[in-house]
Amino acid sequence: MTWLDLPAGTGFGIGNLPYGVFSTAGSAPRTGVAIGELVLDLVAATGDQVHATGSLNAFMARGPRAWADLRAQLTDWFTDAAHRATVEPHLVPRSEVTLHLPVEVADYVDFYSSQHHAENLGRMFRPDSAPLTPNWKHLPIGYHGRAGTVQVSGTPVVRPSGQRKGPTDAAPTFGPSQRLDIEAEVGFVVGTPSELGRAVPLAAFPEHVFGVCLVNDWSARDLQAWEYVPLGPFLGKSFLTSVSPWVVPLAALEAARVPAPARDVPLLPYLDDADEPWGLDLTLEVRLGGELVSCPPFGQLYWTPAQQLAHTTVNGASLRTGDLYASGTVSGPERDQRGSFIELSWGGEDPLTLADGSTRTFLQDGDEVTISATAPGPDGTRIALGEVTGRIEPTP
Ligand code: MN
Repeated sequence: MTWLDLPAGTGFGIGNLPYGVFSTAGSAPRTGVAIGELVLDLVAATGDQVHATGSLNAFMARGPRAWADLRAQLTDWFTDAAHRATVEPHLVPRSEVTLHLPVEVADYVDFYSSQHHAENLGRMFRPDSAPLTPNWKHLPIGYHGRAGTVQVSGTPVVRPSGQRKGPTDAAPTFGPSQRLDIEAEVGFVVGTPSELGRAVPLAAFPEHVFGVCLVNDWSARDLQAWEYVPLGPFLGKSFLTSVSPWVVPLAALEAARVPAPARDVPLLPYLDDADEPWGLDLTLEVRLGGELVSCPPFGQLYWTPAQQLAHTTVNGASLRTGDLYASGTVSGPERDQRGSFIELSWGGEDPLTLADGSTRTFLQDGDEVTISATAPGPDGTRIALGEVTGRIEPTP
């Protein structure tokens, strides 16, 4: 199938071909494609200076025909041994590269589309009301976040300070967050812009969305709980959002498509996706200090990325190249499928016991959290989405 000697079971086979931005010692950041344990330098291999710009944006802006053409070219290069002599010199070991933020993020939106996550938080925060708010099954709830603090995997997570006030505290206090948490999410990167005043329908999702990455929406729960009423998350989340360095093209995930779960309320026409089943069967893995603590199932998300995009633009808001929107915390029905520590420890009341016998509610300084994911690929293979990792550093 390929002349490359790929490691057995690699998630970076020829069915994946994710894009990232890398540098080697003394060289400027440029676009590469991961294959096995290697990176193909696209500037050197194609001669196209669009790949020398230090982000994927200029290439993404060319649109879906250009994306498909390059993917076909790469597939041909890696499968036809006649290209080996010209392609092989431009392969760099992944162990020798530094990976950078792949996308210059334009707008950043975060959703709240996992029913299990929303119900868990509803039960914790509003024990006397229904777990889901009345709007939840009618529209994908989201908020606009802070694009400028989206950073690549590996960026240190400096514990944020801010105001917090517990229910029994007389007044708010200021200091380092004591309830620092993760949110395991999947991100979607917009390549093709849209026109102001024109909604993007469900069916146009693949014309606009270039690819998929992993997102850790670091969250300071104590800051969030005090500030979020009535306008939603603000400083409890904007201090840092981490993304994985490899953007997996939507085209690599055809075998991962699944219908979304059955909806029990009728959807308005612009969200009715009976003909466009864009659920994606991704399995996430969350590790704390290397220990697996959760496997959130993305395939059970109530709202799909196509519905999220349709909803984001239904008022005529335009898309820009580099827009990033994240799914919201992915949680399944089981305890070991919860995508945040506030759920894993049930608000801190039921600590998680780790393999070394220690317990954890929220994150401690020095903790390192890694989120990875795989998906079904072509011909029974698995596609890897890489990983997004971060280590907690003390407040300066
Ligand atoms: Mn989030």
